[in-house]
Amino acid sequence: MLDASSVVSDLRHADALPVMVVDGGPAPTPATLTRTGSGRLVLGAARPGGPPSLHIGPGWVDLHAHVFDGSTEIGLPPDAVGLRTGVHLLADAGTAGEASVRGLIDYVLPTARTEVLIWLNIGSHGLVHLREVSDRSFIDVGRTIAAVRAHPEIRGVKVRSSGLIVGGMGLTPLVLAKEAARACDIPVMVHIGEAPPAIGDVLDLLDAGDVATHCFHGKEGGPWNDGEPIPALSRALERGVLLDVGHGAASFGLSVAARAIARGYRPHTISTDVHVRNVRGPVHDLATVMTKLLHCGMPLTDVVRAVTVAPRDVLRAPRPWLFEGGIEHATVFTVDATAPAGRSYRDADGVRFSPAAHIVPRAAISGGRLIRCGD
Ligand SMILES: [Zn+2]
Repeated sequence: MLDASSVVSDLRHADALPVMVVDGGPAPTPATLTRTGSGRLVLGAARPGGPPSLHIGPGWVDLHAHVFDGSTEIGLPPDAVGLRTGVHLLADAGTAGEASVRGLIDYVLPTARTEVLIWLNIGSHGLVHLREVSDRSFIDVGRTIAAVRAHPEIRGVKVRSSGLIVGGMGLTPLVLAKEAARACDIPVMVHIGEAPPAIGDVLDLLDAGDVATHCFHGKEGGPWNDGEPIPALSRALERGVLLDVGHGAASFGLSVAARAIARGYRPHTISTDVHVRNVRGPVHDLATVMTKLLHCGMPLTDVVRAVTVAPRDVLRAPRPWLFEGGIEHATVFTVDATAPAGRSYRDADGVRFSPAAHIVPRAAISGGRLIRCGD
């Protein structure tokens, strides 16, 4: 079996290394990876031989993570869940609000090699505590709009719209998040969970391009009925609302996901909702969540699209991974028959399972540089 160090040394000296290109297109295609005289890694025509075991595609993107390190209880250092795990671009999902976002931008982002973009929490202080929109005085739409306009890193507005978080505020935080987002022409990411507010009322407020995260949560009152969307979810999907996994500590039900996927409802984006309390399990990293969706029946090429092209579209951060044949950014991974050392799989409700195939990041290629995963 390939180990990470042999992959990286093979890539360093790449001389027609056979690879399978998985870029989210219709099907994986075999190719060769070669290093040019000037030192650039380039893709070339496949050579005869068996199917390559090394996969390569655009650098991975995690649309929902928590990386406001040092300022909230839940934030992780960006590189720990970024390039070390094959993830080139993280979107921090509402750890900061308008009153705290400068701390994230000025003091955390410069410490990271991994690129970070931001969903700004509609609660002004973000996730300093976890009832961030339970009082009307915690929300300031005007200052939120001003923060979005001042900081190009902010690409959307985050709102958590479930019972324990909104308290007596009902749909008000979502309505105010939409007001700020529409004024800035950016999407809303809404966390769905337990009622109130009722899930149908939340979904009916979302527009095309808005994102419902925790789409496969296993809590009471979810948007699926034995794999079929409830009417409000059907309407939302028809309007162009996007489904995001956002696994988290409490928001991924294996049977909910498997049933929906069996009926043809695949998530648009796969994300972790990784934070301090789930990084040692059940989330671990983006590859582990990708493995779970593969296990639920999502084809590998769709899994890759859901962590590359699709989240870049949501964040309005398109970036071709190949430029004049050379590789600008890529994640190199294997699909193994055995689990990574020490890895066990369970969903957010404690259901344990053993996938037949495991996606394992081996290296990131960024600006021509190789970064070994795990370093
Ligand atoms: Zn989250």
